[in-house]
Amino acid sequence: MLSRLFQRAHPNRPPLRLHNTLSGALEEFTALSSREVKMYNCGPTVYDRQHIGNLRSYVLADTLRRALLYWGYSLKQVINITDVGHLVSDADEGEDKMEASAKKQGRSAKDIASEYTDAFLKDLDALGIDRTHILFPRATEYISEQIALVKTLLEKGYAYEIADGIYFDVSRFPSYGKLGGIKLSGLREGARVEENPEKHGPYDFALWKRSPPGVEREQEWNSPWGVGFPGWHIECTAMIFKLLGKQIDIHTGGVDHIPVHHNNEIAQAEAATGKRYVKYWLHNEFITIEGKKISKSLGNTVYLYNVADRGLSPKVLRYWFLTAHYRSPINFTWEALEGAASARDRLLRHFFEEYAQAEGGTPDESFMRNFLDALAHDLDTPKALAAVWEMVRNESLSPAVKRASLLEVDTLLGIGIGDARERMKLSVIPERELPEEIQKLLQEREEARASKDFTRADVLRRELQERGYEISDTPEGSRISKIN
Ligand code: AMP
Ligand code: ZN
Repeated sequence: MLSRLFQRAHPNRPPLRLHNTLSGALEEFTALSSREVKMYNCGPTVYDRQHIGNLRSYVLADTLRRALLYWGYSLKQVINITDVGHLVSDADEGEDKMEASAKKQGRSAKDIASEYTDAFLKDLDALGIDRTHILFPRATEYISEQIALVKTLLEKGYAYEIADGIYFDVSRFPSYGKLGGIKLSGLREGARVEENPEKHGPYDFALWKRSPPGVEREQEWNSPWGVGFPGWHIECTAMIFKLLGKQIDIHTGGVDHIPVHHNNEIAQAEAATGKRYVKYWLHNEFITIEGKKISKSLGNTVYLYNVADRGLSPKVLRYWFLTAHYRSPINFTWEALEGAASARDRLLRHFFEEYAQAEGGTPDESFMRNFLDALAHDLDTPKALAAVWEMVRNESLSPAVKRASLLEVDTLLGIGIGDARERMKLSVIPERELPEEIQKLLQEREEARASKDFTRADVLRRELQERGYEISDTPEGSRISKIN
């Protein structure tokens, strides 16, 4: 991953600065100890597929991982799999998302968790996220660690027991809400959930919940406080302690996690250890779709397979993510994604058609400086991409230099420059730019498909292939791309 070429040219990287939600400011990154950075990314609740909004979180984590490696750090990274305890309300009331989904689908929670965990891991692969070095602990496999942590909190007087379980006493942790400067009164107004009248304070949160009387849960465990299941927040801290240690460098997640989930994590972790839990907190902003919150009930959810169904490479989604800064909200439209597809196509075409044969160059120093300066400034990927385009347009640079520069920066961007398989997926040639003969064949094939004459459509597909064009069929019609 580390490029020796560039290290020789530039032994010093610009200091890497990251926006820390804890201080609300840009801070220079320095590792807690040695050169091994410990990073935890809040992972998926596997009651359903992850949508493109969720995937933005993992592309942020991966961009950060690539940057840290490039800056010379080694890394221990964990993404948890939440397969129990995340309740529908996101607070401590309502059904467990896993159990609710299992009931709805008439399947076991285990079965559902396994299907959506696999789907999630495949999505990561498709997005070019190298997961071979990432640990993916499942919450259900760390129950005893969670119970032990709850015990510690009880022993230290930070937790109390009521009828339905064990709760963290927020009044015992005076700096509660420090992440994101959360005003507790604001949280209270936002709460839509029925209060549990036995709780000592409205912000107290469940560490362990007893299985409700008369309800048989599929996932439940014995504990010193009876049969039950862990609260959602405790899993992250218990797994961090076990796999990364009591103090870690980086913790990430979506901005929705700032007010409650991450403040709860800080409270329980720091109460248990008396030490600072996380040095840098990073949060990605949300994606909306066609201007609206992503929501099942609105039926506007977009998944990675929808992108592939349109004949677009999943790396197009990655490119589109990178065109915005991770701390800016972005609105997804298919037009915006098509725009990203054609920009990325142009970039890959430049590479394959003009530079690919020109081996032996080294990256351009001034370009690399601009590019790395942008990334070093809180992972400013839009600025980094702008630097890439400026370099591509710079006529004074040779194809060999451009080739080397693009290959170098793709270790950080991961958009598939130079990847021959991606070349096969280049898409969206506007029809008017096709030779007339090709346009005619395409038209004939569309007609054959419309009249369900698939044999004829296949013959025409092969004819187009012979002329150097690949067809992929999508619900919106066929896309055509050039094979070479
Ligand atoms: P979940 O499976 O709900 O725990 O979410 C997984 C990750 O996706 C978390 O880090 C969330 O903060 C994040 N997330 C959820 N919805 C969106 C969205 N619309 N845009 C960006 N990130 C999101
Ligand atoms: Zn978490």
